[in-house]
Amino acid sequence: MTPLQPGSTIGILGGGQLGRMLALAAARLGFDVAILTPEEDSPAGRVAARTLVADYTDEAALAELAKICGVVTYEFENVPAAAVRKLTALGCPVAPGERALAVAQDRVQEKSFLNSVGVPTVAFASAEDPEGVRAAAAKVGAPALMKTRREGYDGKGQRWVEHVADAPRIFEELGGRPVILEAPAAFVRELSVIAARGRNGETAVYPLAENHHESGILRRSLAPARAPAAVGAQAERIAVQILTKLDYVGVVGVELFELEDGRLLVNEIAPRVHNTGHWTQDGCEVDQFEQHIRAVAGWPLGPTHPIAEVDMLNLLGPEAHGWARLAAEPETRIHLYGKREAKPGRKMGHVNRVRPLPGRR
Ligand code: AMP
Repeated sequence: MTPLQPGSTIGILGGGQLGRMLALAAARLGFDVAILTPEEDSPAGRVAARTLVADYTDEAALAELAKICGVVTYEFENVPAAAVRKLTALGCPVAPGERALAVAQDRVQEKSFLNSVGVPTVAFASAEDPEGVRAAAAKVGAPALMKTRREGYDGKGQRWVEHVADAPRIFEELGGRPVILEAPAAFVRELSVIAARGRNGETAVYPLAENHHESGILRRSLAPARAPAAVGAQAERIAVQILTKLDYVGVVGVELFELEDGRLLVNEIAPRVHNTGHWTQDGCEVDQFEQHIRAVAGWPLGPTHPIAEVDMLNLLGPEAHGWARLAAEPETRIHLYGKREAKPGRKMGHVNRVRPLPGRR
């Protein structure tokens, strides 16, 4: 693909905050953005040149998107594979491609792929019925974490199995859908690495972020994470391996468990910009959103080295009403998503509190 010219249109499947921040970055590079979302008045739609309000599998909307866009990307991993296939069949490139999406949509495919390319994960087994669940639980042992294979996010669709005998009951409680059983990761920290791969195969990796969750939702990220050089190098190897083996184009978020001995295991791959990469907006010269747009548009990738230390805090629900106090803090950069209703736990925005990098005060 020849680099997409400024003035062209980039399509985004999904109308949430990630789509909004991608659209803002795309606009800065001279692109128009068209959002496809079933939601009227979406956070992304309100900053885009065009919004098509329709279901992701709506044939007419996909045909229109394919007609007006030079490339289409997505802001969440549960976009139907059929939508990506349809756009591709209509001659519209979609990035990241179908393979990355398939791997990220199914926890068993994801871990099998990772292990097949030499990237370590926890031990796991899959099951589709009560009989299989018994066998999987016997294999993995207890405690184990049972997760639905597809469509879990923010800790939803997963339960700890304390005794092997409980597994069939928990399987039913999770809806009787196909599951994965995971051995517990004895991690000392949760880290993540955000990385990108361009159309020509070049890769760029951001420094590690250290992440803290509350009730299954990301609360804060500290970046660059203080970590031994060997841990950083390991994360970089893992990210590049994933990007290369998936023939990936765009930004990827890789969630990691850091073990006591410094080894890293991959928990999850997000085939998109990632909440733990929001720190790059104020901590790097080229942030994850611009980087993604550059990659899918076939532009050269930008630098990923840090220019500040960032403490990223998600604003959940009514916390976003504290914007006036936050705006008075000189070290705080505010990013609000324009969501109309501050439901409890809903990601309404985030702040990046910036400090000079150690040694550069
Ligand atoms: P996930 O939905 O896979 O991102 O998991 C959500 C959170 O659950 C992670 O951020 C971890 O804190 C925890 N978690 C997930 N998998 C495991 C595991 N195998 N062992 C221990 N904790 C886990």
